[in-house]
Amino acid sequence: MARGILVYADVNEPVFWELACAANSLSKTNGEPVYALVIGGTGAAAAVDKGFDKVFAVEDERLAQYNTDLYAAAALDVIKEIEPSVILIGATNQGRDLAPRIASDLQTGLTADCTDLAINENGQLAATRPTFGGQLMAVILCKTMPQMASVRPKVFRKTSDAHKTPEIVYRTPQLPEKRVEILEFVKSVHAKLNELEKAQIIVAGGVGMKNAQGFELLEKLAQALGGAVGATRAAADKGFVARDKQVGQTGVTVAPKLYIACGISGAIQHTVGMCNSEKIIAINIDEKAPIFELCDIGYVGDVFEVLPCLIEEFSTN
Ligand code: FAD
Repeated sequence: MARGILVYADVNEPVFWELACAANSLSKTNGEPVYALVIGGTGAAAAVDKGFDKVFAVEDERLAQYNTDLYAAAALDVIKEIEPSVILIGATNQGRDLAPRIASDLQTGLTADCTDLAINENGQLAATRPTFGGQLMAVILCKTMPQMASVRPKVFRKTSDAHKTPEIVYRTPQLPEKRVEILEFVKSVHAKLNELEKAQIIVAGGVGMKNAQGFELLEKLAQALGGAVGATRAAADKGFVARDKQVGQTGVTVAPKLYIACGISGAIQHTVGMCNSEKIIAINIDEKAPIFELCDIGYVGDVFEVLPCLIEEFSTN
């Protein structure tokens, strides 16, 4: 019988730790052990203190660099041995490439880009993700085993309550011939997205900022606070700000310590990308704006009156 929650641990991506915490939380409901799968040789050490019961480290010099065929073969080797009931993979570039390949080889389903995970009353993985163009949040169950889900970075918080000393099991896999040779890595034009993802303070604006000059106020406040500027899709669509600042379902997912939402209504497609921020402050002229249901501190008022005061306050202190 399938048993265990296996996390694909790409230790170069912080999402693997978030998934370790999510897996431990699922394990509290279904009582199954939590395993890490580390491929490539150097990552096992990074996984030992993240709350796993067992770490499977698959080592081979041909796995030093990511390759879909080889990594899928290495993963399948472990998956077929331990037969987990759940497999979680970060929805990173690598995870988005690897997860469907593994699911297809295992002839199982994959719920991609999840924003929440739970174990339902029947012990099944209930994976939530936006659907119908983001209008609805669907809870998806998988009829086949293992139940696979890829999860967006930053939707789960890293917690430190899972202290375990895992056994490390080293594996040398049977690998197929490489069909693809990677010749060169070129820096992504989206590298700037990482700045937003890494920012501890985000000052974000929506259509309520009116125009690009409105966003200059946000830039000033972000600078004064040592943060970054984010935006809604509607603001980016109107050309107030560059597309790479867009937060939300079709933009970046962020979880800073502080998110200041200025002139943002709080549509689900936006909030799904920032709702895990530690503290959310909202400034909106409309007291019925949905963002006020999500925020920790809400100020009903005009951003063009409030922001200059904040800029003055934080620029001089
Ligand atoms: P509005 O909803 O127009 O809100 C503007 C707000 O500004 C209002 O609440 C208003 O009261 C307030 N305001 C006006 N003037 C002032 C003032 N002077 N002072 C204070 N407040 C003021 N959106 C995203 O953000 N990210 C996404 O990734 C995303 N993906 C999407 C994917 C799909 C498939 C679809 C269909 C939509 C997506 N959207 C996304 C769009 C989303 O549905 C909303 O349209 C968008 O988030 C609204 O942006 P907004 O809050 O800036 O604008």
